[in-house]
Amino acid sequence: MFNRHDLAEMELSELEQALESMGHPRFHARQLYQWVHKRGVTDFAGMTDLGRDLRSALATEFRIVTPGVVQRETSRDGTTKFLLRLEDGQLIESVFIPDTPANTFCISSQVGCAMKCGFCLTGKMGIIRNLTPGEIVGQVRVLARELGMLQSRFNIVLMGMGEPLHNYDAVMKALRILGDEHGLAVSPRRVTLSTVGVLPNLERLATEPFMPNLAISLHATTEDQRDLLVPINRKYGLKELLDACRRFPVKRRERITFEYVMLKDVNDADEDARRLVRLLNGIKAKVNLLPLNEAAGIPYERPSDARVNRFAQILAERGLVVSVRKSRGRDIRAACGQLITESAREKSPAQRLAVLL
Ligand code: SF4
Repeated sequence: MFNRHDLAEMELSELEQALESMGHPRFHARQLYQWVHKRGVTDFAGMTDLGRDLRSALATEFRIVTPGVVQRETSRDGTTKFLLRLEDGQLIESVFIPDTPANTFCISSQVGCAMKCGFCLTGKMGIIRNLTPGEIVGQVRVLARELGMLQSRFNIVLMGMGEPLHNYDAVMKALRILGDEHGLAVSPRRVTLSTVGVLPNLERLATEPFMPNLAISLHATTEDQRDLLVPINRKYGLKELLDACRRFPVKRRERITFEYVMLKDVNDADEDARRLVRLLNGIKAKVNLLPLNEAAGIPYERPSDARVNRFAQILAERGLVVSVRKSRGRDIRAACGQLITESAREKSPAQRLAVLL
């Protein structure tokens, strides 16, 4: 069964070529895209405007892989977290965040994450594997279908489990499939890719025809501080990262978002705020302050609201666009940096300790 290719991870041109080589007209690829991506139909038998012969040939050649919903939890604020099982049994999480101001799907790009950011539960899992393009696209299809939103507009943020630029080719292919006009037609303007700054791939992103909005997980204002909080900084430093941001082609009326998780007595001082202003000088930037979502195993605390407001005020007074993110879904552990699958939670205390050390 597994050597049949996943049709849902093929770009339109690949599907056209495959149909042609099977002796069928290329235009059926568009119909297939509509069935799978626009209507969420994954059983060839249900694709009623395709001939019987074609349907049975497709079922012999291809399969359509869709992550299974293991659990669905809705927070008091409407945020809904989905625990999804992949074909090999690995678990990932995807989150629906309503009205922010648009509806947003927060999706994962890897099982676990290799980046080991000091304040992030997913980072404690380590990297288990990359997601395939089909699994990335499949999360969107599952959420849209489960929530009755296949015909609705929604935004996509790549801010779930994993570092998207560490799984570059699969992520970009998934975005091209999601953007195809014959499928869900998600415009790049409605997609935000969040990265800690895997620099070679950030440079590649700058040349992509499908260019999502960019969010940089900055979180620190000195090299030493960032080395500690975001360890990839030891390889691609803060200065190089910000230079790459200065070169990044930002469209008119758009800005690069800089995410800054606020940690009490670590990076929340007035001096940090003033340094942040200086660092972002010359970049079309907006800053998103994220007071930490405290969690067991994370050795940092959330600053007081007064501290967060003072920090925001310093940025705003110096002309930066700044927002303080109201954390969503905290009661169901769906908030930023809190995605960690049950399999990791179910580890023994000794195993968990091993991961934390
Ligand atoms: S914050 Fe993002 S990049 Fe860092 S460890 Fe967590 S998931 Fe990975």
